[in-house]
Amino acid sequence: MGILSAQDPAKDAPYKDPKLPVEQRVEDLLRRMTPLERAEMLSGAGWMESHANARLGIPAIKMADGPMGVRNWAGSSAVTNAAATPPVLSTAFPAGIGMGASWDVDLVRREGQAIAQEVKALGRNMILGPTVNINRQPLWGRNFEGYGEDPYLTARMGVAYIEGVQSERVIPSVKHFAANNQEFERHRIDEKIDARALHEIYLPAFQAAVQEAGVWAVMNAYNKVNGLWCAENPFLLSETLQKRWGFKGFVISDWGSTYGTAATVAAGMNLEMPGGEPMRAWFAKPETQRDGNGAGWLTSDKVLAAVAGGQLKQAAVDDSARRILRVIFTAGLFDNAPAGGGEVDTPEQRAVARTAATESIVLLKNEGGALPLGAPKIRSVAVIGPSAAAPRTGGGGSSLVRPKYSVAALDGIRQAAGAQVQVSYALGAAMQGEDAGAETPAARAALRLEAVELARKSDAAVVVAGNSSKIESEGIDRASMDLPAGQDELIEAVAAANKNTIVVIVAGAPVTMTKWIGRVPAVVQAWYGGQEAGHAIGDILFGVQNPSGKLPVTFPRQLSDSPAYGHYPGENLHVAYDEGIYVGYRGFDQRNVEPLFPFGHGLSYTRFEYSDLKIAPGKAPAGKPVEVTARVRNAGSRAGAEIVQLYVHDVKASVDRPVKELKGFRRIALNPGEARTVSFTLDKPALSFYSVAKDEWVAEPGAFEVWVGASSRDIRLKGAFELTQ
Ligand code: BGC
Repeated sequence: MGILSAQDPAKDAPYKDPKLPVEQRVEDLLRRMTPLERAEMLSGAGWMESHANARLGIPAIKMADGPMGVRNWAGSSAVTNAAATPPVLSTAFPAGIGMGASWDVDLVRREGQAIAQEVKALGRNMILGPTVNINRQPLWGRNFEGYGEDPYLTARMGVAYIEGVQSERVIPSVKHFAANNQEFERHRIDEKIDARALHEIYLPAFQAAVQEAGVWAVMNAYNKVNGLWCAENPFLLSETLQKRWGFKGFVISDWGSTYGTAATVAAGMNLEMPGGEPMRAWFAKPETQRDGNGAGWLTSDKVLAAVAGGQLKQAAVDDSARRILRVIFTAGLFDNAPAGGGEVDTPEQRAVARTAATESIVLLKNEGGALPLGAPKIRSVAVIGPSAAAPRTGGGGSSLVRPKYSVAALDGIRQAAGAQVQVSYALGAAMQGEDAGAETPAARAALRLEAVELARKSDAAVVVAGNSSKIESEGIDRASMDLPAGQDELIEAVAAANKNTIVVIVAGAPVTMTKWIGRVPAVVQAWYGGQEAGHAIGDILFGVQNPSGKLPVTFPRQLSDSPAYGHYPGENLHVAYDEGIYVGYRGFDQRNVEPLFPFGHGLSYTRFEYSDLKIAPGKAPAGKPVEVTARVRNAGSRAGAEIVQLYVHDVKASVDRPVKELKGFRRIALNPGEARTVSFTLDKPALSFYSVAKDEWVAEPGAFEVWVGASSRDIRLKGAFELTQ
């Protein structure tokens, strides 16, 4: 491509004309750029900024971390978490896993939009989210960021988030492409994943992001997939993302995930982050290199040298610049530079955060109507535990935002309990790692005793237990599925003192519950609920709100029941995903293992009845969608929302297929006695598997069953149809 002129472009240069089509503007601008200017586009100018070009008026892309709110962009977490760094305050939304538990696509879209508004208000224009990596196994330190174990649910949530963000013309970055499923050796681990598992489990949410949401940016993962780092993986980037899926945006590197120049650019990785002086200072630190980061490979001098040396084609450099420019134009950054100064944490944004926190909560167990609490059933409640008075808005790492305020469970319970119920508090057990003085055996016993005494003289006890953002965090995997030290003992002791003990778990992944679950009547999973978590917990416990969340991830009884057990974390920097497609409930079904709580499980204070399953046509020719309807009635006496789930069971196939796969869901709110008919459309993707032999998705003719139910193991209706040739 020739260069038009290296002089300052005329004011009426076509690329400056907002009325012209984006592609025309991109090509015009690209033609005016020197090889150096094009090469400069390929690396960041700072920690969270791309290169601006003053001569041509190209603005910098200004990023901020997400996905649960807008995080400080001043530097690495060592910098942004330092007391000396002025905080950036924004609304803290629930962790992705909680958003997944809401199964509320519209809500996630509203969340994405609210976050994008805050991005703009803070003068930024790109948010580094959503995270759509699959929860492969319970110990991953970042399980809380994604939407769970199921590719279909994750895809729906990811698409909604992206649509919300892009509707505000803010650039999202769906991450981490691909298969970032463990923190252990995340920079060096080489994951062996078979083609079918990749296509059926790890890639669908990214594919949906590209093809359904038209996502503008994709962030590559740190790890290697089948021998190659994700930043220089032609299979992932050029073949799959660009050619198969038709991705038009740009790929951004995860921070410190690049290990070469020519191979990276040629593979289709377009923008290396971080860059400039902040990158050099960070990379010079021994710990940066010890962790296995790679950086500084796409600086303009290296890119130009690779082109001059013949290792890299100019066309590949141009393609990267073109992709970045295309997004800059599409997002309107050329025409309306973000002014900043809008409002953050508005009443509307807070309302989304509160609704999200409420809908995220999953009522796992409720025997004998232990919940909801409230007068006259109880007059006093002891609130206990290391996460009762301390708000824990999110897991640790780059996603943890600083809200202006956050509501602790204890405060929310006080508000929801009202004047009729006396609320008292005891710590009961310090959070592991937070107070060494409180963690000696003697101090532990004393704290526990105080809590037990309080529980004994109260009508009910609520123990708020779980992980902290130091225990469950980016950068580390959990050592086990168990609750942190002292918490099991606390729950057991309180349960022994008060038979009305309710356990609330604040954690982003399953924790071991077998030690005490048989001794407590009710258990609530609250995830990390963002700044409004306390209100949501109080409202659910006291029945101000009816719980409606459902598990987006299977809760195993014990770690060894997890399908990936034995295939994690690998040896000598290699991990083989030998469970293949049998991730999550697919694996529990295949091996016939009873989970503690199945995927899709979640109770309500009301009851729902399912009836009238209709499937049409009974014989469907290939390419013709199958329509499924079912009637759901609120048979209880309270308003509530049900998440109706549709699973497909392929009766006979030429390859192994999971017993069932989620292919549709509807969240419906019903008043007492109210009934509604929900409908689903099953198209070819809903019936297909990825054929390794044909290297494409195949829907094989034959019998299919449709299972509709309240969870993956509470199927209420079954029907069948036949796919004909
Ligand atoms: C994380 C990304 C994050 C980036 C920038 C990385 O360590 O893996 O998710 O967006 O840092 O902070």
